[in-house]
Amino acid sequence: MSIELPEAKILAEQMNKELRGKRFKSWCSKDCERLQRIGMMNKDLSIFNQLVDGKIEFIRSRGNVIHVKLDNGMNLIIGPEYGGEIFFHKDEKTVPNKFHLKVDFSDGTVLTVRLTSMGVIEALKDNELASSYVFKRDFDAEKLSPIDEEFTFERFSKHLAENNKMLKAVLVGKAAIIVGLSNSAFQDIIYQAKLHPKRKASELNAEEKRGLYDAIKFMVNERLRLNGKDQFFDLYGNQGGYTPAMGPNMKQQACPECGTPIEKLSHGGGHVYLCPTCQL
Ligand SMILES: [Zn+2]
Repeated sequence: MSIELPEAKILAEQMNKELRGKRFKSWCSKDCERLQRIGMMNKDLSIFNQLVDGKIEFIRSRGNVIHVKLDNGMNLIIGPEYGGEIFFHKDEKTVPNKFHLKVDFSDGTVLTVRLTSMGVIEALKDNELASSYVFKRDFDAEKLSPIDEEFTFERFSKHLAENNKMLKAVLVGKAAIIVGLSNSAFQDIIYQAKLHPKRKASELNAEEKRGLYDAIKFMVNERLRLNGKDQFFDLYGNQGGYTPAMGPNMKQQACPECGTPIEKLSHGGGHVYLCPTCQL
């Protein structure tokens, strides 16, 4: 299950509250070879030694990337893009068997991080942050974040008008005009906005643009309100309560709006579930 903007924000806020001011005592990694080989973790793990003795200054998120800033010039970047589990433990007793990174703090508390699919765990010096693909992508102030004040309908609408690509490329991934959404949120949003995934951004009329903007705001705010998606677990292991209106959970079901069987479309390097009647 992908960790998108709402879930990353929930985790970062909980981490900031729980971990800020704590000092890294030691770390260990487990089963990381594959991750390192495909660039999801530093090639040389000895850089994690430089986290030791650092005190956490703050933890923040933008898009779906979590940034842990230490006071010794080091950073931990966690981007569980396609799924991950980040858990806080009061002591060793609740530490799970499976994790990729475990951090022990000087007060005896523990943080574990596990990527369940594609994602990133990187230790980086301050001057190396720009070398992180996910950090650069999501902390780029030029890109709108749906929870920032700058994400106004006027700005969003202008970006859409200037973009002649299909909606998925405009809302998801490297060239997207906003940060934090993946294919999961995309299916949910365009269903609620009643738009077909193959529509081009620049061809939307004013009402459709408004519908898309409202659907993004609604989805993000609902997921924040309900502690994330229903397959998400927060820092304390509490499950989220938001069920997407459209997505793999609607496979072989009928559209709740019109009763048409839901279809699955191969699109943009993935699958998109949609209602062929409602989404035009
Ligand atoms: Zn329908």
